[in-house]
Amino acid sequence: MKIMKFGGTSVGKPERMHEVAKLITKDAEPKIVVLSALSGTTNSLVEISVSLANADRNMAKQQIEILEAHYQNFIDQLLKTAAALASAKSIISEHFEFLNIILKISFSEALNKDILAQGELLSTKLFSVYLTEQGIDHALIPALDFMTIDNDDEPQIGSIKVKLAQILQRHKNKTVFITQGFISRNAKGEVDNLKRGGSDYSASLIAAAVNASVCEIWTDIDGMHNNDPRVVKKTVAIEQMSFEEAAEPAYFGAKILHPASIWPAQFYKVPVKLLNTMQPEARGTLITELAGSVGVKAIAAKDGITAIKIKSSRMLLAYGFLRKIFEVFEKHRTSIDMITTSEVGVSLTIDNDTNLPAIIKELEPFGTVEIDANQTIVSIVGNEITETKDVMQQIFKSLSGIPIRMVSYGGSSHNISILIPKNYKVQTLQLLNVGLFGLE
Ligand code: ASP
Ligand code: MG
Repeated sequence: MKIMKFGGTSVGKPERMHEVAKLITKDAEPKIVVLSALSGTTNSLVEISVSLANADRNMAKQQIEILEAHYQNFIDQLLKTAAALASAKSIISEHFEFLNIILKISFSEALNKDILAQGELLSTKLFSVYLTEQGIDHALIPALDFMTIDNDDEPQIGSIKVKLAQILQRHKNKTVFITQGFISRNAKGEVDNLKRGGSDYSASLIAAAVNASVCEIWTDIDGMHNNDPRVVKKTVAIEQMSFEEAAEPAYFGAKILHPASIWPAQFYKVPVKLLNTMQPEARGTLITELAGSVGVKAIAAKDGITAIKIKSSRMLLAYGFLRKIFEVFEKHRTSIDMITTSEVGVSLTIDNDTNLPAIIKELEPFGTVEIDANQTIVSIVGNEITETKDVMQQIFKSLSGIPIRMVSYGGSSHNISILIPKNYKVQTLQLLNVGLFGLE
């Protein structure tokens, strides 16, 4: 059995959905098809939720109407027969009626989750109607019946496995299953989700649960590229990489794969393939335990980083200094990305500055605290790159003239990270593309 997950842009237009139907019927292997919401829908639902949270009902009502019109339009192009159109219309009415009822209820976090779930519920139900119209036999299996998270928002893989097996058992004669990405049920039994971009995570969890032959992630780009195609003109797809390597650029910016989506596939040894719906014959990127080759494979950037430097002569020869510093961040539930130290100071970075004022206040007794906002982490990723000859030399040679604020080397053998001011990001990525890959 294989898993095929299609992202928002892959189902975002009626003709794209038609394409997805072709892709899932290309071979006879049993499959679970995981769908995101149509592109833009989850963002619209977030906006509706925000309007409700601000008690701006008129605004929410307008936003709901615009979204509903979008769906009406969508099904008119998706479907042909009167019967199919009638079922699609009633699905849309059902979900938008729900949103309109919500207008009258006072806002809560649980309600917010219910609102966000509408996108995936709609996309899968409408796709199912289309498949039926096309005479493609399948079963729609609700993710809310098997995808569960515990009190710490962690997916309960054991229980997902049992529940999913039972559901599949009930549909023994089927080979195509459709389900929702992103949505889940929490410990209280309420509708919840796996966080924004979480459909990849759903796919990987399902792949692990059924011990799939492969977990295919279909997007609108032909795999993981060696550099950010939005920033750099010439990039190439990476043919093969290890889970460990993939986790690095996924975490830092290259938004193809949700960072958390790696571990279930990795732990249960399911190969992941990144494929392109617009170009299905392209090779894409294969992610397995094996790296394929040694050396630099990718460059990725992550914006919105704040650097914090704590300088203190008392750090000289003192023990326990770092622990005290780290405790401040732990207390304020802020995770640290990069860290470098010298005899008299420590620099570290965070990507969530919500609690920064409180953190600074508590750090001040330890020494002078300096803050640099608007920084970017640029990661150079590859298999055993820290053991690859001359990589550091090549990096520094490429970047002469770029003000490098921090360097992190040796934390993992797959990653070398540098911190630069964000306004140097484009130039940095371009220079490294030339220096490390010879791509102009
Ligand atoms: N629809 C959700 C989002 O936009 C989940 C996903 O697409 O992965 O965040
Ligand atoms: Mg995504």
